[in-house]
Amino acid sequence: MKRLIFLGPPGAGKGTQASLLSEKMNVPHISTGDILRAAVSQGTTLGQQAQSYMDKGDLVPDELILEMIEERLAQKDCENSQGWILDGFPRNLSQAEFLSQLLEKINQVQDYAVNFKVEENKLISRLIKRGRKDDNEETIKNRLVVYEQQTAPVTDFYRQRGELFEVDGGLELEIVSRSLEPLLIN
Ligand code: AMP
Repeated sequence: MKRLIFLGPPGAGKGTQASLLSEKMNVPHISTGDILRAAVSQGTTLGQQAQSYMDKGDLVPDELILEMIEERLAQKDCENSQGWILDGFPRNLSQAEFLSQLLEKINQVQDYAVNFKVEENKLISRLIKRGRKDDNEETIKNRLVVYEQQTAPVTDFYRQRGELFEVDGGLELEIVSRSLEPLLIN
C-alpha cells in the first residue's frame, strides 16, 4: 500500500513522474489540474466556475476543490487499489488540513509527501516549452507567486510531521524516477 502526495512548483515534473510511478505501482494518479481541465472542456458547472481562476493562474476556491477531492477519493479504485498518488493537491494549508481530516475519516494514511525542488529559471523554461493554455508568460509568473505564497508552506506542514521526502526535480527524467524508488520499499 502506497499513498503519496506530490508537491512542488509548476513545471517541477510532478505530473510526469506521478504518471510513470502510478503505472509502475498500479495505483490511480489523481491530478486535480487534470480533473479541472476535463471539467472545463466538458463545460460542466465545476468547469465553468473554475475556468477564470485557471486562466489567471490563481487557485480555484477551496469550496470547489475540497468536494471534488472527497468524491474522487471515495471512488472504488482508491479503496480497492494499492494506494494512490495525489498530484497538485493540497495546494494551500487549509487543503492540507482538510486532507488530514478526510484521510482520518476514511481510514487511510498517506505514506509520504514528495517535494520536487527545481530552481525558478528552469521552471520557467520548462513551462514555456510545454505550451499549455496557462503556460503564457503572465500566467506563469502569477502561478509562481501563488506557489511561493500559498503552496510552499504545505511543504513545511509535512516536514514538521516527519512525512516529507525531497527530490531534485531539476535532474533528468530517468534520474528523478530513480530517486523515487526508495519510496516503493516498505
Ligand atoms: P496544475 O495542472 O496542477 O498545474 O493546475 C492547473 C490549475 O488548476 C492551477 O493553476 C489552478 O488554477 C487549478 N488547480 C489545480 N489544483 C488545484 C488545487 N488543489 N487547488 C486550487 N486550484 C487548483
